[in-house]
Amino acid sequence: MSQSEYALLEDLDRRHVVHPITEFRVHEEKGPRLILGGKGVRVDTADGRSVIDGFSGLYNINVGHGRTEIAEAVSAQMKRLAYYPAFWGYSTEPAIRLAERLATLFPADRNISRFLFTTGGSDANEMNFRLARFYHASNGQTERCKVLSRRSGYHGVTCAAGSATGLPAYHVFADVSPVHHHVAAPNCLRCEYGNTSSDCAMECVEDVEAVIQREGPETVSAVITEPILGSGGIIMPPEGSLQRLQEICHTHGILLILDEVVTGFGRTGKWFGMEHFDLSPDLVSFAKGINSGYLPLGGCALSDKVYETIRDKGPQGFPFLGGLTYNNHASSCAAALANLDIVEREGLVENAREMGDYMIGCLRDNLGSHPFVKEIRGLGLMAAVEFTKPGTLEPVGGLPMAFTTSVSEHCWKRGAIARAMWETMSLAPPLCINRTELDELIDILTQSVHDAAAAFPEG
Ligand code: PLP
Repeated sequence: MSQSEYALLEDLDRRHVVHPITEFRVHEEKGPRLILGGKGVRVDTADGRSVIDGFSGLYNINVGHGRTEIAEAVSAQMKRLAYYPAFWGYSTEPAIRLAERLATLFPADRNISRFLFTTGGSDANEMNFRLARFYHASNGQTERCKVLSRRSGYHGVTCAAGSATGLPAYHVFADVSPVHHHVAAPNCLRCEYGNTSSDCAMECVEDVEAVIQREGPETVSAVITEPILGSGGIIMPPEGSLQRLQEICHTHGILLILDEVVTGFGRTGKWFGMEHFDLSPDLVSFAKGINSGYLPLGGCALSDKVYETIRDKGPQGFPFLGGLTYNNHASSCAAALANLDIVEREGLVENAREMGDYMIGCLRDNLGSHPFVKEIRGLGLMAAVEFTKPGTLEPVGGLPMAFTTSVSEHCWKRGAIARAMWETMSLAPPLCINRTELDELIDILTQSVHDAAAAFPEG
């Protein structure tokens, strides 16, 4: 395609395409960033550049771009049978093979062996809330309908998942449904109780107990959390806090839903985030890394306790009415199988662990002493550098995201995509990244921080 054809496409985008997380009027002024292709950790832009994808798209392109074996697996499946519904017991080979494979990937002692596939993370959470309710109803506890989730947590934007999302910006024009309740964020840097990690009494977790008592334990169905709060700014859980959360759930017969949409499938250097924190959730939501975004796919993993209760005690003649047209989609599942082959064959979970340690080390070396850097944190190949006006918790420049947006713009100009997430710059490159590519990415981020800082001399 010629430059004039790209310009035409960009103009058509301005006129006809609606982009989420994008201000319409700004988009019409600036136009799209047209991505033409990709290979490994890089994407090709319409202005002829090859840019490092430092956030794996949206935390999801774990095996990198341009994996022809996934395309071939999908093509073969589509030629045989692209799709058939999963309702009323219909099934397809890729869905069966994928479910069986996941049963071996989840840690053996967690008793997780049944899977329902969705189209992404939001609907995985929606389904898990329905499953939790159905589980309690099967036990005769129909009044258990409330869901607790954490401030700064992100669980999607559909109705129930959106209500569970605890980031205030998402509720400006979208009310929290009355059965959803937000509890304290487990954020040590910005502790809601004014504590520091040395005098932490884990009040954020005890807030879960307090809200359960306030609402009545017999009315609470589930607590949902991410192991690491991803979209909240890669917020690491206070030591021991997730186990305490799990204990609170167990005490009250409340289900723990672990949202592993970001942390699943190797991102943290283990297959699942639950392995770092010794968790045994009742339900797990996953998406993204399961097939690296080559086709839409997410899903719910059911513990044997939940599955068997519904199977053995569920109302007779009344099926689980949580069906989506695209549940257990054959082609998306075929993409997942090919994706998991790559992850295993290339040792990408181990690579995420090794490269993740290297990435955090380099970030600390390069940026640790910058006056605007408040904290550098992460696990595996997900890391955040948080910036504040020196000596405060205020945003650099006084305006939310003014500095980080500027850093992200500089990165783009210099040849890398890094995500401005609130007051952090976040990196989550494909799990196949190597040292040389990481050096380049971190170098670009470092230079971009210096570029942006020049425009904020006061901090
Ligand atoms: N849960 C978490 C932890 C996420 O990060 C996301 C998306 O980023 C979702 C759920 C929602 O997933 P989706 O955008 O596929 O609906």
